[in-house]
Amino acid sequence: MLRTKIICTLGPASTSPDTILRLVQRGMNLARLNMSHGKREDHLATIDLVRDAAAQVGRPVGIMVDLSGPKIRVGELEEPIELKKGKVVTMAPSDKVQPGEIPCAYHPISRDLQPGDTLLLDDGMMELRCVETEADRTELEVIRGGVLNARKGINLPGVTLTSPSLTEKDLSDLEFALEVGVEYVALSFVRGPEDITNIKKRVGDQALIIAKIEKVEALRAIEEILPETDAVMVARGDLGVELPFARVPLAQKRIVEMANLYARPVITATQMLESMLEHARPTRAEASDAANAILDGTDALMLSGETAVGRYPEEALEALINIGTEIERSGFLVRGPQYLTHPSTDSRGGASSQEHAVAAATVDAVRRVNAPAIVVITRSGFSARLVSSYRPSVPVFAVTTDQVTYRQLSMVWGVQPVLAENIEISYDSLTAFGLKSVLSSGVGAVGSVIPVTAGYPFHQSGSTNTMRLEHL
Ligand code: PEP
Repeated sequence: MLRTKIICTLGPASTSPDTILRLVQRGMNLARLNMSHGKREDHLATIDLVRDAAAQVGRPVGIMVDLSGPKIRVGELEEPIELKKGKVVTMAPSDKVQPGEIPCAYHPISRDLQPGDTLLLDDGMMELRCVETEADRTELEVIRGGVLNARKGINLPGVTLTSPSLTEKDLSDLEFALEVGVEYVALSFVRGPEDITNIKKRVGDQALIIAKIEKVEALRAIEEILPETDAVMVARGDLGVELPFARVPLAQKRIVEMANLYARPVITATQMLESMLEHARPTRAEASDAANAILDGTDALMLSGETAVGRYPEEALEALINIGTEIERSGFLVRGPQYLTHPSTDSRGGASSQEHAVAAATVDAVRRVNAPAIVVITRSGFSARLVSSYRPSVPVFAVTTDQVTYRQLSMVWGVQPVLAENIEISYDSLTAFGLKSVLSSGVGAVGSVIPVTAGYPFHQSGSTNTMRLEHL
């Protein structure tokens, strides 16, 4: 039972029924579908296969639909364009482009750019500087040249875009996601907290929202975004283009630290084991990067191309599990009491001081009574996420009667979701069920003391207010 969770992006390399089944058996906790690629019917088929495999294996596996967001791209090109250093080139909307100009699918680009702004192409491979803008035309000087192909990404570091945070395509993909029912919706190119409140108005409580942090504005506004969002992703791909790459490591550490503090699950993503697109083993640098993300406090590690289009999807998952196992065995991971006494812990994460008092007492009790596990009885998953944010040294068995909560908790650090079906909804029966799950998982021995948290009395809306020490 790895406490760090693993997310696999599914794509042509991993969507056969056999591969999905093996990924679930081996430990994939969440399947990511990237809406920037693939057809709707293929995504639907993949969701069905993940649901079937999870049912067969008897483990919760959530689904994340990752919306493309207002990603700006070069339009279609008849042939690649060579951009020579020092030359001035023209960019124009796709439907107004003249021969020799660069088409751009994002029409307001000439309005958003100012002379002196930087425009990066193809993940930052080429760099242009805005010289002049007119109604439909932008003149750009080539600073770092190269060969430009169709549909390549455009990044405008530091430029405030006037585009809405949800494009027409996002709205349609969101409708699809909500119709089929997924656990998480990730939003790309978040700029500020209003992007999250905006999508939440449409999603309500049908799914949890992951804010992808990949823009400088989002990094600056991280402490305003975290209270609004349910989870965050360090989306290092675009972040490393929008920011100088040398600033990505500290940005990553800051996002993870803040997310831990606000009790929001955090995913570290992109180029995790990039060399495994082609090779069966990761590089030592990649192994260290994954290990350090875990040591920094990430809840989950995400594989992208490695599992979607790589040659070794199962080996990539296995490699992350092996790295995680080594780190978790080492005992370096648990934050322990200093985290409990952090000055901000009393109000972080939108939890009341009462809820923090119960969560902190629960985690503290583990050490005092030498408990092998914690049981949290939770309807929405909130209490389990709060307890997890204290990074206890033992597994958290989250007992829930809600199927969606059960699958949502699959990506929360240290949480082992337990679905209580056909069980009387009372403290006694849910606790007995949770304790039985602890015992049958082999974590504790008969007689061990287990801290159990719950909201009491049941059925009354309100918060977790109880911690009791029960015996296995
Ligand atoms: C990223 O940019 O790191 C990321 C996860 O987003 P995408 O894969 O959609 O580019």
